Amino acid sequence: MTGNFEIAVFQGDGIGPEIMAPTVEILRRLADANPRYGLTFTDAPAGAAHYAKTGESFPDQSMKVARRADAILLSAMGLPDVRYADGTEISPQIDLRKRLGLFAGVRPVTVKAGQETPLAMPEGKEIDFVLIRESTEGLFFTQGSGEVTKDEARETLLITRDVSEKLFRFAFQLAKGRKDAGRGPGRVTCVDKANVFRAFAFFRSMFDAEAAQHPGLSADHAYVDATALWMVQKPWEFDVLVTENMFGDILSDLGAGLMGGLGLAPSADIGLEHAVFQPCHGSAPDIAGQGLANPFAMILSAAMMLEWLGLTHENEDIAADGARLREAVEGVVASRNCLTRDLGGTAGTDAAASAVMEALTA
Ligand code: ATP
Repeated sequence: MTGNFEIAVFQGDGIGPEIMAPTVEILRRLADANPRYGLTFTDAPAGAAHYAKTGESFPDQSMKVARRADAILLSAMGLPDVRYADGTEISPQIDLRKRLGLFAGVRPVTVKAGQETPLAMPEGKEIDFVLIRESTEGLFFTQGSGEVTKDEARETLLITRDVSEKLFRFAFQLAKGRKDAGRGPGRVTCVDKANVFRAFAFFRSMFDAEAAQHPGLSADHAYVDATALWMVQKPWEFDVLVTENMFGDILSDLGAGLMGGLGLAPSADIGLEHAVFQPCHGSAPDIAGQGLANPFAMILSAAMMLEWLGLTHENEDIAADGARLREAVEGVVASRNCLTRDLGGTAGTDAAASAVMEALTA
C-alpha cells in the first residue's frame, strides 16, 4: 500500500533539538526518494524548556497533534533545573504513555560484529534481542502517589488482565515478525518473579495462555535475577523478553550497557492505536549546544518508527527503509570510523549523522 504518514515531532530539551534536526532531515530524504510513501512533520511544542518559557509543559494543541498523527517522534526530554512547583520533573513522555495507553515499551538490544561492547563476545556471536517492558502499571502504578508516613512507605504493584493480555499478544506478534524476517528463532521469554509473588504467578498464567495460541513459536520463563545474570553471560541466546514495568526499567539499562551506552539505545512505546519513538537517554544538558551529542539512538528510534509504520500499514517500502536506516547506523557504529565522544570517538553530531546519510546512499 502507498500512503502519506503524519509524524508529530517533539523536539525535546537540552540536546533534544540537536539530534532531532538531522534525524528529520534523514527521514525527509528517504521519503523524497521513495514514491510509495510520504512523510509530513508537525511540531508539537512541549517539555521543560517550553514550560520555562510559557508556564505550560504540554499544551492541549500538542496533545491534539500527537493524537492525530500516525506516529510520534520524541527527542530527549526534561531539564534538571526546570521543575513543577512540587519539585517533580517535567516529562511529557510519561503523560503520553498514560494518556495514549502505550503499554509496550520496546527496547531492542543489538551488538553487531565489530561493535564495541564491555562483554568478551565469543567468535561469531552477535547480540540481537528485544526487551518489552510493560509501561503503564506494575510497580510504577502508584508513581508519585505512594503513601509515606513517618515510619512506613508503601507503593502498589498492579498487574491487570486487560493490559497483560495485550502485552503478551504484542510480544508474540513481535517474535513472529522477527522470525519471519530471519532475525530470531521465534521465542518469547516471560521474565518475572513468580516463585515469590502471587502477582507474578498471575502474570505468568496469562503469558502461558497467550503462548498456547501460538504453536509456531516457543515460549519459556525466567526469573528476573537469573535474567540479569544471563544478559551478561549469554545475551546472544535471547530473542524476545517480556516483563513488568520496574523489572524492564532496570534490565533495559543493562541492555544499553551491553551496547556500549545509552547513546545507542533506541526505544518505542507502543499501544493499540498510537506509538512514540524516542532515544532512551536523557537531554544531556552538560553537552547541550556544543554540537557533541550522539544522534544514533534518535536515528535508530526513527528507524523503528518506519518499520512499525510499515508493519501496521502493510507498506513494505517504508518498512524496508526502516531496516535500511537501522543497518546504516549499525554499519557506521561497527566500522568505528565516525563515532561521537560518548562512544570513544571525536565526531560531532553533524558528522555522525552525515556518515549515516552517506552509508544510506552508498
Ligand atoms: P534522565 O534522567 O533525563 O534520563 P540522565 O540523568 O540519565 O537523564 P542523561 O541526560 O541521559 O542523564 O545523560 C547522562 C550522561 O550521558 C551525561 O554525561 C550526558 O552528557 C551523556 N549523554 C546522554 N545522552 C547522550 C548523547 N546522545 N550523546 C552524548 N552523550 C550523551
